[in-house]
Amino acid sequence: MKIYEYQAKEIFTDSGIRIPRARLVTEPKELKDTLRHLPFSKYVLKAQTYTGGRGKAGLVVKAHDEKTALKEAQKLFKRVNKILIQEQINIKEELYVGFTVDRSKAIRKLIFSCSGGVEIEELSRNHPEKIITKEIGIFTGLLPYQLREILVDLNLDKKVKNSIHKTIQSLYEIFSRYEATLCEINPLAVTDDGEVVAVDAKIIFDDDALFRHKDILKLRIAEDEEPLEREAKDKNLSYVKLAGDIGCIVNGAGLAMATMDVIKHFGGSPANFLDIGGAAKAQAICDALSIINRDESVKAIFINIFGGIVRCDEVAKGIIKAKNKLNIDKPMVIRLIGTNDKKAYEILKKEGLSSHKNMSKAAKAAVSGR
Ligand code: GDP
Ligand code: MN
Repeated sequence: MKIYEYQAKEIFTDSGIRIPRARLVTEPKELKDTLRHLPFSKYVLKAQTYTGGRGKAGLVVKAHDEKTALKEAQKLFKRVNKILIQEQINIKEELYVGFTVDRSKAIRKLIFSCSGGVEIEELSRNHPEKIITKEIGIFTGLLPYQLREILVDLNLDKKVKNSIHKTIQSLYEIFSRYEATLCEINPLAVTDDGEVVAVDAKIIFDDDALFRHKDILKLRIAEDEEPLEREAKDKNLSYVKLAGDIGCIVNGAGLAMATMDVIKHFGGSPANFLDIGGAAKAQAICDALSIINRDESVKAIFINIFGGIVRCDEVAKGIIKAKNKLNIDKPMVIRLIGTNDKKAYEILKKEGLSSHKNMSKAAKAAVSGR
């Protein structure tokens, strides 16, 4: 689960990490009044999104007077519905600090760089030596000497280094306490007066651990989620929207992944990942088709079901029900095989539909059907 920068910064404050003064605005009509009453006059207007890279996307804008701030914030409100108006900080050094999980090594790690900022991805590609990584022992946790090793070569005052040390330690505590998969400050700024301030804040939580963190669940803002993803969640379908144009309905996560691979192999691009589950009934197929049918980027629908516990005739009934109810006019390629498939083929045939048996042939048909 992702949260917004302003929400992550509230967690930071509770843990003693310094953040710039700021105010969240959610209504364009409140801008004028808010700006007038803010105790600072140099602003950074920050669109609140769940995605990173806002600086490069023009979603973080500096303004040096109230009038410009108002104009720029109004522009941002055309793209998002929440803006954080932050005091502009004089940044002397931009550092990067992040805690994350290295899945290939099954270990948590600390990533640090004294060249933080919007170019961090380029830096990791072109100057990997400027990025320091420390693995966190499963039983020991992050150890103080690991932080000292990072800071020893930094050309900064002892007092500043102490503040950085404390900030990283606090970030680690948040990362551990909430079982996050990512906690990141980029940039962690050192100001002209030697203050250490988290200018940005990013936390991603592990969905599978959230049942232990009810206070974090409360930070979910359902109306800001992708509407189709939200609906899928409510209907217990595991659905992720992607950039392509072939809508996929599949049972089982493994087959869903394989289906996306096969579509790619034949030159297509999946519009979504959708696993209806291993024991789906007709209604689940109907719900899934309803969601995919409303995705405007979908040009063809590919239904790929392996009948095991799921019965193919049940799936066929779901398809027919959805087709009649939803007026699906997008080309639909069906591949059903396994339990009760003969029965399913008869049900489909009566409605003028047919099913492939071979997955490759079906995927090819879906790709050329767009
Ligand atoms: P992101 O691009 O989504 O990671 O958004 P950030 O909050 O990191 O902002 C992008 C960039 O804007 C930062 O890397 C900074 O270089 C710059 N920036 C943000 N806030 C300030 C500020 O208060 N003062 C200065 N000088 N630069 C800022
Ligand atoms: Mn950032």
